[in-house]
Amino acid sequence: MKYWNSAGKRIQCEDMGKISILDNNMVNMIAAGEVIERPASVVKELMENSIDSGATKITVSIEDGGRKLISVTDNGCGMQADDLEKAFEPHATSKIRTSQDLRSIATLGFRGEALASIASIAQVKAASRTKEPSILLSQESCGAGSSIEIDCGIKGPVMPCNIDYGTSITVRDIFYKLPARRKFLRTANTEMSHITEQFIRIALSNTSLDLSLLHNSKQLYHLSADQSLRSRIAELFSNEIAESLLEISSSEKSMQIYALSASPELSRTNSHLQYIFLNGRFIRDKFISHAIREAYRSYIEWDRYPVIFLFIKMSCDDFDVNVHPTKTEVRFYNSNLVHSQILAALREKLLSTAQTVRAKLPVEISEISTESKPASKIEYSEKINQAMAEFFQKHRHGSSQPHFSFRPAGNSLASVQHQRQTAPSQTADLSESAAKQKFIQIHDCFIVTETEDGFVIIDQHALHERVMYNDLKKRTSAGKLESQKLLIPESFQITEIQKQAFDNHQEIFEQLGIEIEPFGPKTMAVQSFPTLLSKACAVDFVRDLLDLLCDAGKNPDTERLLDDVLNMAACKAAIKAGQQLSDNEILQLLEYADSAELSGRCPHGRPTTIKFSVTELQKQFKRT
Ligand code: ADP
Ligand code: MG
Repeated sequence: MKYWNSAGKRIQCEDMGKISILDNNMVNMIAAGEVIERPASVVKELMENSIDSGATKITVSIEDGGRKLISVTDNGCGMQADDLEKAFEPHATSKIRTSQDLRSIATLGFRGEALASIASIAQVKAASRTKEPSILLSQESCGAGSSIEIDCGIKGPVMPCNIDYGTSITVRDIFYKLPARRKFLRTANTEMSHITEQFIRIALSNTSLDLSLLHNSKQLYHLSADQSLRSRIAELFSNEIAESLLEISSSEKSMQIYALSASPELSRTNSHLQYIFLNGRFIRDKFISHAIREAYRSYIEWDRYPVIFLFIKMSCDDFDVNVHPTKTEVRFYNSNLVHSQILAALREKLLSTAQTVRAKLPVEISEISTESKPASKIEYSEKINQAMAEFFQKHRHGSSQPHFSFRPAGNSLASVQHQRQTAPSQTADLSESAAKQKFIQIHDCFIVTETEDGFVIIDQHALHERVMYNDLKKRTSAGKLESQKLLIPESFQITEIQKQAFDNHQEIFEQLGIEIEPFGPKTMAVQSFPTLLSKACAVDFVRDLLDLLCDAGKNPDTERLLDDVLNMAACKAAIKAGQQLSDNEILQLLEYADSAELSGRCPHGRPTTIKFSVTELQKQFKRT
């Protein structure tokens, strides 16, 4: 067998010498690779330890996105001097003793590897004090605490120290002896958004605790103890989300569900605002995600995600948490039951609460009407009713109307030549060739038009999206997009993570010509918006853009990121499927189709046009 060493040089098995057992420090460093991925993992492990210690107040203080310092202070049970020393040994835990205990884990930690892992990859200082006097330290220092320092696995002596009841752990210069891993740390802003995410997860599942998060001495959050979940959500996300949440609870068999679930209009472009907790532990689970998606089917578009905070309680006998070192994955013994119970509870609530049906009906027509401002709720529902009435009228069984709409102007394949005489101003700016074209819009979705040797069917949304994308791409590569100052700035609430994404990607906003300014606590306002995107609602667009940028951690390539943003912009600004177009709009689209260099596919890869030749038709009709 052949191996490669770190310099990439091939070494033979014979050169490798005899097997030796790795020392504890090496074992910890390797284990740390699994548990400690980045500063946010340290924050998670330390906060979980504080919760397990019975703390009611936890303060997390960060410097330079955790690259320089992470400190977590709690008022929990503390540790005696001898325990403080043991706590940093591998497999040191006070939470389980026997294999039997593994089957009924009620604490967040139990593997006894976090502190040892953290101490093996950073400079750690821990100080702790219990309510009982220390048994190891001298009488004079009774009542005071003890402290210890560990530098990448090298432990110093336990010393007496002055500290309040509880524990304080400070982690400096993470990975400083592991340049290969330190290199993978991202900017302070990116690391801070991961830390904030961990903090939010813990804050949501521990509403009774007083929690603070500080970055470079600036307080990002102070959540007071015994807050209701809804007001905590308002502080962490926005009042708009908090106010729209429906409350769902169900208790059946061995499982209790409590959820706050946002109304479908507040759906998002990603699943970041889906928080699922099992017995207080944040988890990700594909069965549960699927159940949520199914429950909301027909209430929101297929590519959007509902906002939901879901808390599940079940007996420890019904699942296994010891599947993954970070414990975000669990194994349910009866995942079908979990799926069906969540689906049923959510579905029942959605059905019993009158919800706006948005998906699939031609609601988009009214949404992008000539009004520049989003319609109020009442106007909106009136438009839906109207659109639905029209929809059913058109699609009524046995209707004498065909299932597609002809152009009102021609009532047949309309020659625009004719129309031109009646409404010259409408088509005056279109090219001669486009104006002569014959076309028809079918199902308010597709345009069929004659070509020299046959006809093409155009997907109106896909084609327009492609055109918009090409245009946006051309303009952004030449400079920034032309934008317009909004008459009245449109304000919106922004979460800490979105704010960090905004700070992180200011150049994208600049390039798009979107100007946003602070507008009060946790509120920003859109001041300018690109003219090219004027059909999209500014606030909705910015919100989706921020969500997309929050994902950018996984997508560091700035060119690709800008491309994703342009894709999204094109999709939002394009004519929708289900929108009835005027002749003029159709002609404009056909003109685009002729002139633009189009790849025949929309930016998502779907075809924009499908061609049929007369020869093909003749063959089909057996004319040849
Ligand atoms: P685990 O949490 O899986 O037991 P850790 O390595 O995280 O393992 O912690 C080891 C032990 O140190 C814990 O079991 C607990 O007894 C003690 N400990 C860690 N943090 C604290 C804290 N903040 N307060 C009190 N005890 C703590
Ligand atoms: Mg722990």
